[in-house]
Amino acid sequence: MTPDGGPPTVHVGDWTVSLVELDALHAPLRWVLPHAPEEELAWLPCHVLLCRRDDQIVLVDAGLGALDGFFDMTVRTTPLNEGLGWVGCSTDQVSTVLLTHFDPDHAGGVVVGDFPDRLAPALPNAQVVALLQDGALADHAAAIVSALSTAGATVAFVDDHTEIVPGLRLSSAPGHREGHAVVELADGDDRFVFLADTVHAREHVAHPEWDFLHDSEPAIGLETRQRLLQELSGSGTLVACSHIGSFGRIEPGFFWVDVV
Ligand SMILES: [Zn+2]
Repeated sequence: MTPDGGPPTVHVGDWTVSLVELDALHAPLRWVLPHAPEEELAWLPCHVLLCRRDDQIVLVDAGLGALDGFFDMTVRTTPLNEGLGWVGCSTDQVSTVLLTHFDPDHAGGVVVGDFPDRLAPALPNAQVVALLQDGALADHAAAIVSALSTAGATVAFVDDHTEIVPGLRLSSAPGHREGHAVVELADGDDRFVFLADTVHAREHVAHPEWDFLHDSEPAIGLETRQRLLQELSGSGTLVACSHIGSFGRIEPGFFWVDVV
């Protein structure tokens, strides 16, 4: 939240982009800082991103939603409609949902109801888009895709770097999870990158090797993290991540600076 109480919001060309904290996991601090004491817990915030321009309303990820019981820990959750209401939007206005990957804290909110058999689409008018992945979907992901399909809301799986709406692309960022993608938004001279789970904390910009715990393929995840940070460093490009509560920039020498 910004000092005025609303979710942090920036402008990228004609787009208005808001970072909304929907949920939080009371997780071991070691999840992000590997040298922390074993028993220490900390709240890990989980954000969705809302990108709006004219009649295009694009939601990136959707929070825990129907998968709020997935993690064996205390969680704080907000219904998606309530969270979008903080920026004057509702679930039925969303035209497109991009899923950066199918982890429960990112994809669970595209469905409502009881997991796994009694699920329905949470965003009735939205097309759901995710990056095509090589391997099979995890069980919970398959349940989500199948529930959406049964309700007539088929997930569109797209190739790397596909332009979803003008200026907005889903690009592969492998290593964290099968099909993990970042979102690139460009309009005029302005550029923004949503890094999703490429890093999980500001400290990971200076110490990319600390963020190994969540990667399905840690060596590839580290390579992706270093490549993207190198590309963004000193570029002036605005960035945001799923688990960091502000927009920022990556400065040379590799550190994160909050923008809003
Ligand atoms: Zn995540």
